[in-house]
Order: sequence, then C-alpha cells, then structure tokens
Amino acid sequence: MAAAPKIQLDVVTPQKLAYSEQVDLIEGPAIDGLIGILPDHAPLVTAMKIGVVRVVKDGEEIQIAISDGFMEVQPDQINLVVRTAELPEEIDIERAEAARERAEEKLEKEKDNVDFARAEAAYDRAKARLKAAGHHDHGYDRL
Ligand code: ATP
Repeated sequence: MAAAPKIQLDVVTPQKLAYSEQVDLIEGPAIDGLIGILPDHAPLVTAMKIGVVRVVKDGEEIQIAISDGFMEVQPDQINLVVRTAELPEEIDIERAEAARERAEEKLEKEKDNVDFARAEAAYDRAKARLKAAGHHDHGYDRL
C-alpha cells in the first residue's frame, strides 16, 4: 500500500526553527479565519493571526501556539514564519497565566486608550499558549 501523502511543515521564528516535520495536515488561524492545509494544496500566501495551529502527524495531534506572521504553502511544503512559536512542552503555564492576568487588568483600565489593542494582543498570546499547553482556564476566549 502506498504511504499516505505528507507535507513538510517548517515553523520559523526570528530566534529558531521551532518545528520541522513531515505531517498529515495542519489547521491554523489565518487572517480571514481558520484554514486547513493538506498535502498537494494549491500554492498560497496568507497572513496569520495569534492563535493555535493544530498539526496532525502520523495520526497524532499536537498544538503549536503562534503569534502573528505569514504562511506560504506549496504542494509539498508549508513555511510558517511567525514572531513567536511554542510547542506544548515549551510553554511556561505560570508565565502565560501571569501575562493573561496583566493583560486583563490593562484591558479594564485602557478601555478608551490606544494601549487597548496592545493589551488585547498580549491577552490573545497568553490564551493561545494556555490552549496549546492543554491548560483550560475559565477566562473569556477571543481565539
Ligand atoms: P510575557 O509578557 O510573558 O513576556 P509576551 O506575550 O509579551 O509574554 P512575547 O513577546 O510574545 O511574550 O515572546 C517573547 C519570547 O518569550 C518568545 O521567544 C516567546 O516564544 C517566549 N514566551 C513568551 N511567553 C512564553 C510562555 N508562557 N512560555 C514559554 N515561552 C514564552
């Protein structure tokens, strides 16, 4: 039987190659909404938002927390170039919880301020990290 088709996924940040594997499929937060990519996908480039990328590899699923960036897709290759990326085991949950709490306080204070968008982005990054790490909290989920 022929092996199931795979697609090479490289997740790159300014600091590191965060992930590089042959995978079955990915699903992640593109600027226009959730996008799924399978092997042999048509070429495309899209901006990505803060959120969680779901990766299926050999039938197993992992989640990668990403900040904003771009994704370039070729039939056999996905390049995800993002500001930050963490695998579940790399995520410091206490740090993300502290960041989320700080962002929540700022969101309360900065309602009519230009810093609101910045606090919102910090909040989203913290929530994405908690989600990718499998840590379910009860806060409001914008992602
Ligand atoms: P914080 O306020 O905790 O620094 P942040 O959202 O402002 O959070 P970023 O600027 O997005 O942090 O990331 C800075 C660096 O720290 C990146 O390399 C990112 O991968 C890493 N990082 C941020 N938060 C965490 C976390 N909770 N666990 C592991 N790495 C993290």
